Amino acid sequence: MRTVEVAVIGAGIVGATIAYELRKRGHAVTLIDRDEPGNGCSFGNSGAISACSVAPLAMPGVLASVPRMLLDRDSPLRVPLAYVPFALPWLVRFVASATPSRVEASARSLAALHAGAIARHAALAREVGAPELVLERGHLYLYADRSALAKDAAVWELRRKHGYRAELLDRAGIVSLEPNVDARYRAAMLLRDHATIRNPFRYVQAIANAFVARGGALRRAEVTTLAQSAAGWTIAMPDQSMHADAVVVAAGVGSRRLLDPQDLVLPLETQRGYHVEFDVHGSPVSRTVVLTDRKVFVTPMETGLRAGGTVEIAGLAAPPDWRRADVLVSAVRSAFPDLSGAPARRWMGHRPCLPDSVPYIGAVRGRAGLYAAVGHGHLGLTEAPATAERIADLVGAVGYAVP
Ligand SMILES: Cc1cc2nc3c(=O)[nH]c(=O)nc-3n(C[C@H](O)[C@H](O)[C@H](O)COP(=O)(O)OP(=O)(O)OC[C@H]3O[C@@H](n4cnc5c(N)ncnc54)[C@H](O)[C@@H]3O)c2cc1C
Repeated sequence: MRTVEVAVIGAGIVGATIAYELRKRGHAVTLIDRDEPGNGCSFGNSGAISACSVAPLAMPGVLASVPRMLLDRDSPLRVPLAYVPFALPWLVRFVASATPSRVEASARSLAALHAGAIARHAALAREVGAPELVLERGHLYLYADRSALAKDAAVWELRRKHGYRAELLDRAGIVSLEPNVDARYRAAMLLRDHATIRNPFRYVQAIANAFVARGGALRRAEVTTLAQSAAGWTIAMPDQSMHADAVVVAAGVGSRRLLDPQDLVLPLETQRGYHVEFDVHGSPVSRTVVLTDRKVFVTPMETGLRAGGTVEIAGLAAPPDWRRADVLVSAVRSAFPDLSGAPARRWMGHRPCLPDSVPYIGAVRGRAGLYAAVGHGHLGLTEAPATAERIADLVGAVGYAVP
């Protein structure tokens, strides 16, 4: 048996975890990124290992929210009118994926991918020498009252159906866990067993470092094209190229440029998300808290108090609209009125999104040795370890040898 060389393109949470898993299984792996590991979308997420999030973004009734998406600049899900012509084909697929049967199918796929996510991350964090990054204190979803909670009944029912148990809390229950939450939140759902990564960037870096420590190679270069030959794959970069027997494209929103020419044309759109982060002494929350009315995750990060969220479908090229970050600031201040000072950091990142919220994880048809792990959308952190196992199983299954 010969030694197989695998090139993984993209060192976000998805690519770095795949590279690490492949290397663990003995493959000769090169991880390539134009930037340092973890500096893409994986840099600034909310750190939630949100295994229960099996409901796709487009739920039945999504059509009714379209006018607000287009017209309200502060809507949690926003499509600026100027971008509508570009986003239209994707939006049509998005709305079409919201039928009850397709939602059910997406939920099944996501539930299978999320099973065991918390245990997988805890094990991975230990292995890569960063167990302190995993905060196991649950996730608390806040609602104004029981009738606001009732509006999310379909989502909670899907979670329940797929085995996730949440406890209903009243105001006293909220205060007993998180005493700083504003009095306007009087109902909550607590997922006691859920967990959070307290610094998503450092996590990716720890995984990449552990990959290198196990003998993996890290290259900093932009991959421009992939070409198949009888001998495998040639990966072209501006001043160099390399050969590999197998290639895994995990380049987030940059993946289409590499996959379209290989006839895997995925309906991939960026959903731009933002975070603001406050330098705080003594975080007002001790666990991930979700302001469901604002669709904002508030997280006690190693680096400060982070409020992350909002969806803006406005393409790759437009500059960040920092008004979206201001909306996060007002959301977090309204929930924690004692929060003082201005956010120390603001960030925008590109979530790689497919219309039905289910990522593409698999081989590319008709291109032996080419794999893709793309479209993890709002849940790439949660889904990375299971994605890595699936890709590593596929690479191993075609008989590539272990050195
Ligand atoms: C505000 C916000 C909050 C979020 N919160 C959560 C959360 O709480 N939980 C959760 O599970 N998920 C969350 N997510 C989603 C999660 O962050 C993403 O799904 C995940 O980061 C996607 O990872 P990725 O590795 O696919 O992409 P990326 O992290 O973007 O990595 C792709 C990499 O590919 C590289 N690349 C691209 N093209 C090329 C090329 N041609 N050559 C070389 N390199 C290339 C890029 O430089 C980049 O490093 C959140 C996202 C946002 C924006």
